[in-house]
Amino acid sequence: MSATDLTRMSAAELAETMSSGQASAVEVTQAHLDRIGAVDAAVHAFLHVDAEGALSAARAVDARRSTGERLGPLAGVPLALKDVLTMRGVPTTCGSRILEGWRPPYDATVTSRLKNAGVVILGKTNMDEFAMGSSTENSAFGPTHNPWDLDRIPGGSGGGSAAAVAAYEAPLAIGTDTGGSIRQPAAVTGTVGIKPTYGGVSRYGLVALASSLDQAGPCARTVVDAALLHEVIAGHDPLDSTSIDAPVPPVLAAARAADVAGMRIGVVRELGGQGYQPGVEQRFREAVDLLADLGAEVVEVSCPHFDYALPAYYLILPSECSSNLAKFDAMRYGLRVGDDGTRSAEEVMAATREAGFGAETKRRIILGTYALSSGYYDAYYGQAQKVRTLIVRDFEAAFELVDVLVSPTTPTTAFRIGEKVDDPLAMYLNDLCTIPSNLAGNAAASFPVGLAPEDGLPVGLHVMAPVLADDRLYRVGAALEAALLDTWGAPLLAGAPPLEQVSRR
Ligand code: GLN
Repeated sequence: MSATDLTRMSAAELAETMSSGQASAVEVTQAHLDRIGAVDAAVHAFLHVDAEGALSAARAVDARRSTGERLGPLAGVPLALKDVLTMRGVPTTCGSRILEGWRPPYDATVTSRLKNAGVVILGKTNMDEFAMGSSTENSAFGPTHNPWDLDRIPGGSGGGSAAAVAAYEAPLAIGTDTGGSIRQPAAVTGTVGIKPTYGGVSRYGLVALASSLDQAGPCARTVVDAALLHEVIAGHDPLDSTSIDAPVPPVLAAARAADVAGMRIGVVRELGGQGYQPGVEQRFREAVDLLADLGAEVVEVSCPHFDYALPAYYLILPSECSSNLAKFDAMRYGLRVGDDGTRSAEEVMAATREAGFGAETKRRIILGTYALSSGYYDAYYGQAQKVRTLIVRDFEAAFELVDVLVSPTTPTTAFRIGEKVDDPLAMYLNDLCTIPSNLAGNAAASFPVGLAPEDGLPVGLHVMAPVLADDRLYRVGAALEAALLDTWGAPLLAGAPPLEQVSRR
């Protein structure tokens, strides 16, 4: 089997290829490391490639298999890990200078579950600093490029994970989603991205941005692959006090069922229309019509408070992040600046934070500190929390009427690198559709539904399901995937960008 064939396969196909003895885990891993070597100078999906660690994990899988041991469904399958999750002994930067040189002494629960399942972790992927951003341009280590068009952004904050999957550097990746950072990159790279129910996947070892919103989840090129990964990482974890102690929703069975007959689907009136790119709107409408053709019952649903989700989020997130990032004090982790023996601890801390944090991070720390200060707390943070409750109620009311809600994932396709860096508000507007589900904690996903006619770039359909009904996302995604294969063919639905272009650069 050629190395190219191996990198084009889905995770499920790779697992089958390895279990039937047509390729070893070492061969599969080496093929992906070679692919990274060939294209990542152009894509810059990875901040750190752990070739040695990956090959040794692959050798261990091959050794276990050779003894006849029955291995899990993703044993030997390579994966890219967002650099916000800790992995013992491997650099974890969160896209920030302030953590440069830090090697965590422990594995995140997600990481240890992947290792226990025999998944081969190739390395750590690029991201906006501490996961704040929608383009991966806020990384201290330079942007990631969208494999569909290298002059464009791959989304953010998890642009590295989505780009790695779209560029065939890995069949699977882990992202994290606080306001859309799994779903928005998935939409603009033509890949599948799932934000599980809050509490569905452990946050232990996920470096916190906003603890009440953060959630790790799968990135993949197919819906079944995402489900396989979901089942490996999800489930109760006593190390995370917000982890839900309930069975993992049957996501793999739902992905295999791929059936929406009789499902009630609500199109959210407040998340569409005005200001959306026409091609995004068009592909979204076509996907909804297709779901109706497949037997779903489509109705329009109003969620009136979603209009206030963005402002509420941009008070709650900075508030939580200003508190979470206070621990980067020049004493405990990574960078320390100006410690020449003459300066006070406060001066060293100030110099370190000044040098170590980027502009967006500082902006949010300042905003959050202001919103939490006495005298303003009720007017800003308190008010935002009330809006959050109203959004939860909107979801509850909507899910009385329908099984899932849908909208476009993003108002536009991938924009050009540099286009929005000087306009934070324009950048924040990318997350209009994704933020309500973070505020309410319910499950949500983005699935590829075609290319926009005006620019030939991927469009995503956003699906939202009730808390712990993550399986419904997979049912919709897999039904669409199967139906769209005829229209778009495997290239789009396998997340395939113009690969030759990627390789040439
Ligand atoms: N783009 C959003 C933000 O900047 C979402 C970030 C995320 O989900 N981590 O906050």
